[in-house]
Amino acid sequence: MAGDIYCAIDIGGTKTLFCLLDRDRNIYFKRRLPTPAGKEVEVLVDTVNRGINRGLEETGLATENLTGIGICIAALTNFQQGIVYQAPNLGWTQPVALKDYFRKTWGCPLYIENDANAAVLGEVYYGAARGHRHVIYITISTGIGGGLFLDGQLYRGAGGFAGEIGHTKSYGEGRTCGCGGSDCLEAWASGRGIARSAGRRGEDGWDTARIFARAARGDHRARELVDQAVTDIATGVANLVTFLNPSCVVLGGSVAAANPFFFERVRDFVQNKAIRTAVTVTPLEIVPSVLEPEAGIWGIYAMMIHEIG
Ligand SMILES: [Zn+2]
Repeated sequence: MAGDIYCAIDIGGTKTLFCLLDRDRNIYFKRRLPTPAGKEVEVLVDTVNRGINRGLEETGLATENLTGIGICIAALTNFQQGIVYQAPNLGWTQPVALKDYFRKTWGCPLYIENDANAAVLGEVYYGAARGHRHVIYITISTGIGGGLFLDGQLYRGAGGFAGEIGHTKSYGEGRTCGCGGSDCLEAWASGRGIARSAGRRGEDGWDTARIFARAARGDHRARELVDQAVTDIATGVANLVTFLNPSCVVLGGSVAAANPFFFERVRDFVQNKAIRTAVTVTPLEIVPSVLEPEAGIWGIYAMMIHEIG
């Protein structure tokens, strides 16, 4: 296995996942470490570097074995520049030339990509969207992220910031969002958004897990909160289906997974609300992610193997 080892890393808001893999998808190392969110950039870079080194040490590999390092991150990122422009989850207030930080340590090719952009590629190559050329991926958990695979390729947009369905408007009145805007889908329908809605109704202390548990037991107030969020998400999906005419929509994240009727309700809503031809003439699949919580890892790996070479 000398050479041709790929390091795939997913930096999330709370955990960072490290994997070392070869070209044949054999995994040599997999480890989760806490993400040092809210700290200086150097602290995160140091954590990532230590994670990679730990992987190399534990597997007996050398730096020279690394063919590429791919990092996906929950942040608005320009792939070509390797710059993170906005990262509310990490608490960075200024653009960060993240690739340059890692270049100081690693000589192999480095790639920095938004996590949902990576995840849509993962689902296309190895997951729920295999065989599709027009795919929308949305993950709904603490926040809401999205990635677009259009006409057979990842669609990044002019600056690399396409797919941010979580920050489309307008899903309520008067609620700020982590992006700096207000009344984004994420501010209302993410796990955090649902908990905020509960707090606004005087149900202080209801975290998202508790709301889902209560809704599953038939609690009327909890059901209302969850129903509204599902309707908001389904509205966003219906708009995207009308706008982009995909053949596959992959939905991931804890909010989808925690609701037994989530997919049934989103499918019904989209069938009734999206423009008719986009859901009748074109076969449309609305399916759960099959790679979670590792869709980003597989996507950044696929990017290194298939998209870059
Ligand atoms: Zn927003």
